[in-house]
Amino acid sequence: MSKRFSLSVVIGVLILVISVISVKSVYLTAKPTVDTAEAHINEDTATLEGMIHNTGGRDVSCYGFRWGTSSGLDKTENLSGSIDVNKPFSTTITGLKEGVTYYYRAFAVNAKGTAYGDIKSFTVPVKYNAPPIVSITSPGDSMTITPGEVVKISASATDDKKVESMELYINNIAKKKTDGGALTYIWDTSGMDAGKYVIKATAGDGVKADEKTINITVKDDLKKVAQAAVTPAANKVPTRTKTVATPSRGVNYTNMSSYPRLSQYNGSFGQFYYRDTGGGAIEIDPRWIAENIVTIKLPGVNRYVQVHKNAKDNFIQAFTYIQNGTATINGKRVPLLSLVDTIDGTFVSRHVNWNPSEGLSNHSWGIAIDINADNHFRYVNPNWEPDDPNYILWVKAFQPAGFSWGNSYGDSMHYEVIK
Ligand SMILES: [Zn+2]
Repeated sequence: MSKRFSLSVVIGVLILVISVISVKSVYLTAKPTVDTAEAHINEDTATLEGMIHNTGGRDVSCYGFRWGTSSGLDKTENLSGSIDVNKPFSTTITGLKEGVTYYYRAFAVNAKGTAYGDIKSFTVPVKYNAPPIVSITSPGDSMTITPGEVVKISASATDDKKVESMELYINNIAKKKTDGGALTYIWDTSGMDAGKYVIKATAGDGVKADEKTINITVKDDLKKVAQAAVTPAANKVPTRTKTVATPSRGVNYTNMSSYPRLSQYNGSFGQFYYRDTGGGAIEIDPRWIAENIVTIKLPGVNRYVQVHKNAKDNFIQAFTYIQNGTATINGKRVPLLSLVDTIDGTFVSRHVNWNPSEGLSNHSWGIAIDINADNHFRYVNPNWEPDDPNYILWVKAFQPAGFSWGNSYGDSMHYEVIK
């Protein structure tokens, strides 16, 4: 074997080796193969997933996702680190918007170039958006007020997202607008005409809106009228005039000569013969009194009063509540008993307002009582005066004991049993 031949062999082998390496490099390696997998959406984020099936015979230097809101895929998520074939890789994209379709594809890069998986897409679901829930916390619905009263209107709203704004209307005239979920408006009713007013509060969350309305009646200024008619005597307080049909039932006895007039029929409390004794006072047939009016001791205040026998239990019940109950005023717990300053009324035989041309007062049946007459011949607005003693007594004692309250017609001292 000549030296020349040996050299040729060496060169030939080298060429062969170089060729094999070159061929392998050019023809036997390739770009990676990569798949795009499904995305997992969670509210405004999505986790994108991909998988490299083959590195193409070279190291994968870079991989990740291209994505965007169009198939242009203008955003790139580059992932680094070693990657195993056939094991998923993922990344989470954030800040996604409801109802928007996003496109994405996985990619992987090796020395041969960049490979892509298929373009896939997903649409971020639009969540159900509930409209705000609006409430008017004060005043109460169907409240009657007198002109000149200042009414604090409070409304609030809640929402599954966020209440953006609220607005208040009175008879569809915008009165106030506010950001957020709470609104307060001071409504001065001075000079308002009597009639019904629709108070409407609206709230919106930017997408959906809702509203709540209540009706407030501004009444004629009866208070002034009634006050003008009243005489100075302590008991001379107005009582609601009952519009009762002509009595259809008589009483078991008649004493027409002494007691020529017959009262209206007052439910389970019956009716009686009476006569006018002047000044709006009446004298009731003593037999009716003997049969119907009883003397009881009011618990707590330990006062003896005359009431109708069918209302007796209500009075006892109300004053038992007063005897045992407490209220919190200005953060202090006080006994209900301390809220009762004066007691008037119960059984007083008279016309409404001591006016002979008016009907008979319910005090004539012994079914009404006047508490704290000073300063309570008027309407009490519970929203304005939540600590008013007569309001507290109404809520905690008289209402649960079956009384109605004269407040609705501007006589907050007056409680009476309705049966
Ligand atoms: Zn009264």
